[in-house]
Amino acid sequence: MAEGILLIISGPSGVGKGTVCRYLLTVREALKLSISTTTRSPRPGEEEGKEYNFTTTPQFEAMIKDGSFLEWAVVHDHYYGTRHETVQELLGQGKDLILEIDIQGAEQVRERVPEAVSIFLAPPSMADLEQRITGRGTEERDRINSRLETARREMDAYHAYDYLVINDTVENAAGLISAIIDAERCKVSRGARPPGRGGENK
Ligand code: 5GP
Repeated sequence: MAEGILLIISGPSGVGKGTVCRYLLTVREALKLSISTTTRSPRPGEEEGKEYNFTTTPQFEAMIKDGSFLEWAVVHDHYYGTRHETVQELLGQGKDLILEIDIQGAEQVRERVPEAVSIFLAPPSMADLEQRITGRGTEERDRINSRLETARREMDAYHAYDYLVINDTVENAAGLISAIIDAERCKVSRGARPPGRGGENK
């Protein structure tokens, strides 16, 4: 079985990565979302093992030491990381896998997995992004300010990515990402073969 495609999706805080990724999962059956490990506390409605694996700082640091992570980073004062095990298991089953991770993590994955496909999700305008961050209403003022500052800085990272997708509507952004996955699947360099040359004959 062909290995799945490893997709990195990053973008500034508040751009709507989570919404776009969740929508994508409903329209592409073979697509899975990697569950990260984090030391931040669950937000209302978040469940252990669903949005994240929630853990403590000492436990996370022990996992760094024993080499459990494909990548990890500190984002807004908390640890976040992707475990090797999660990635290997799902790609090995032929599933395409989304890593919804920050720009530091994306850099590490690009280095370690050169065939990973990286997508930068950007807002239609900076005013739109600021409104989304301010309007989320789940955080205190200084958290919001820190997110705004990080978001503006994160926008500069787009040039290191393979693709840029504007999140004007969830459907449009997900449609473009879906087209990127289809195009990657057609790549000869990724193992696409015609019938009689190793391709499936349906
Ligand atoms: P939140 O706490 O709002 O869910 O996520 C905060 C930030 O952490 C987002 O930019 C998200 O993409 C990033 N993030 C989530 N999981 C991971 C991960 O496993 N690794 C890295 N490097 N960043 C992550």
